[in-house]
Amino acid sequence: MMIRIAHLYPDMLNLYGDRGNIIALTERMKARNIDVVTDQITMGKAFNSDDYDILFVGGGQDFEQDVLLDDLKKGKDIEIKRAIENSKVFLAICGGYQMLGKYYKTYDGKMLEYMGALDFYTEGKEERMIGNYAFKTKEGIEVVGFENHSGRTYLGKNVEPLGKMIKGYGNNGEDGTEGVRYKNTFGTYSHGPVLPKNSQLADLLISKAVENKYGKTDLAPLDDTLEIKAQQQVMKLYIR
Ligand code: GLN
Repeated sequence: MMIRIAHLYPDMLNLYGDRGNIIALTERMKARNIDVVTDQITMGKAFNSDDYDILFVGGGQDFEQDVLLDDLKKGKDIEIKRAIENSKVFLAICGGYQMLGKYYKTYDGKMLEYMGALDFYTEGKEERMIGNYAFKTKEGIEVVGFENHSGRTYLGKNVEPLGKMIKGYGNNGEDGTEGVRYKNTFGTYSHGPVLPKNSQLADLLISKAVENKYGKTDLAPLDDTLEIKAQQQVMKLYIR
């Protein structure tokens, strides 16, 4: 088996080691004898989503999100929308997550019009939402993470949240939701990076990608003793 990953804007959107998500996916696939190839899709580089099984984009500051807009609108936006509608697995973090929505109005009033691939919008405020946090997905996976964002994201009715908040701010600090989920697209504010800390979430993404491509999902279990211990320790120290 072979899974191909597209890492979108790896040099521009990579806060708090978000690249670690690719490493976690890769290592967990290799451990199951699945070959992995990752391509770096930088600004100016052609991108055809048909070539990939998993897409990933990390978080960034308002500045980088603005700089990327031109490149995004030169065709990557169409490919990203197509990939999402075609049920490709897509993980998008913080600034990269915001870019999938309709727009991001920064705290100082700058309007960044995005592709509207998903039904939500984001508006920034001066007071940032920072801290260790946790949420629970509809599968019951408790995810621990770290958030640091000015943007408040409000979901429309055509998408669901990735999870319900256990502790922290999440999408906006008001409605108890975190992230977005639509088909096999997962958006989250969780930096840190999120997948090495949450092996169950990593495996959920891998199983969706394998199922899409090969029609089966029986991933061999891995020894996650240390990962689970670390996750529980974060829960104990910061969340509960
Ligand atoms: N610039 C965005 C915000 O502050 C995203 C930040 C991030 O990726 N951490 O809301």
